[in-house]
Amino acid sequence: TNAIDWARVRADFPLLTRQVHGKPLVYFDSANTGQKPDAVIDAVDDFYRRHNANVSRAVHALGTEATEAYEGARSKLAKFLNVRGDELVLCSGTTFALNLVAYSWALPQLKAGDAIVLTRMEHHANIVPWQLVAQRTGAVIKVAEIDERGELDLAQLHSLLTPEVKLLSLTHVSNVLGTVNPVREICREARKRGIVTVVDGSQAVPHRAVDIASIGCDFYAFTGHKMSGPTGTGALWARREHLAAMPPFIGGGEMIKEVRFEGTVFNDAPHKFEAGTPNIAGFVGLGAAVDYLSGLGMRNIEAREQELLAHFNEALSKVEGLRIFGQAREKAAVVSFLVEGAHAHDLATLLDLEGVAIRSGHHCAHPLMQHFGVPATCRASLAFYNTHEEIEAFVAALQKVRRLLG
Ligand code: PMP
Repeated sequence: TNAIDWARVRADFPLLTRQVHGKPLVYFDSANTGQKPDAVIDAVDDFYRRHNANVSRAVHALGTEATEAYEGARSKLAKFLNVRGDELVLCSGTTFALNLVAYSWALPQLKAGDAIVLTRMEHHANIVPWQLVAQRTGAVIKVAEIDERGELDLAQLHSLLTPEVKLLSLTHVSNVLGTVNPVREICREARKRGIVTVVDGSQAVPHRAVDIASIGCDFYAFTGHKMSGPTGTGALWARREHLAAMPPFIGGGEMIKEVRFEGTVFNDAPHKFEAGTPNIAGFVGLGAAVDYLSGLGMRNIEAREQELLAHFNEALSKVEGLRIFGQAREKAAVVSFLVEGAHAHDLATLLDLEGVAIRSGHHCAHPLMQHFGVPATCRASLAFYNTHEEIEAFVAALQKVRRLLG
């Protein structure tokens, strides 16, 4: 990462120059949503100022430009993740993408007696859709547990993969613990047993080079707003054979070839799953985000964030009374913690007064909180645009807040 001037990279993010409560902002909440570089903000602005029109409908010049820009974003995403564009369903984010698998693939396939395997560290977006499917089909949910490091217990997970299991859905990277799961190995074991695999890539795509084709999963979901793109963007990658066989989830315009009152012929995938006017400007912005991240190089981004994480861990080790949740050997730059005797929300509120933005709460992972026996944690999550100085400022603020609460 020596080749990259990270101070200049940071200067691409206008929001990061803000002050909060009279203090320079320290934004350590990128796992919640990422900040946006000028390139993304400008692309959205330029689309609305110069190219705005609906996609795939009008033959006029603006309509063609808008369609090319939208489809161009799909192609950029596909190349970025090493998959085919026609296997990428564009949607509002991970939550929609996982619900699409739940409603269009799982609901018609599963029946009473079948089982779905999830893991202890899933986000609610990767739990609740499967519960809804289980309720309607009579399938049951089984849970792969974690060890004291916050890593999946692979032996226990493999022991769950019995013949009733039809689907395994797990996160690539935990949004609470930062644990990077060995998804390739896990998907290989599942596929050997004929189990369909879903990977939640929300916290992986923004932070590492993800090659979906090499993972060997059936479905891969991710969200645009955590990868420098606009909110309300994301995608589901699926194997072509699944997309061809799956019925549509949402009906309307764009997803059809011909509509008669006697019946409708659906469009081909991925359009079959993209009813209605999409978030066109959002995807133009996401295309710009992909260009931006590719320009930096995902391997450089990962190395930069690992370097920040090492510094962060070292700085935190000097803070007394800190309980850290998750010490995985392969870990993203996410640290969940509590300070002895202090409530997570009090800590986060006092840190906010110091200009430090972190998240406190359950992080949409109630079952993981139950595992640790706490209602909430604080979570600091870093990105490549953070700095070593911010880590020092964070630790100084944390020490001050500890004394205040002490
Ligand atoms: N899964 C994980 C692991 C996440 O971190 C998030 C976002 N916090 C989601 C799913 C849901 O993403 P979205 O809200 O963008 O649909």
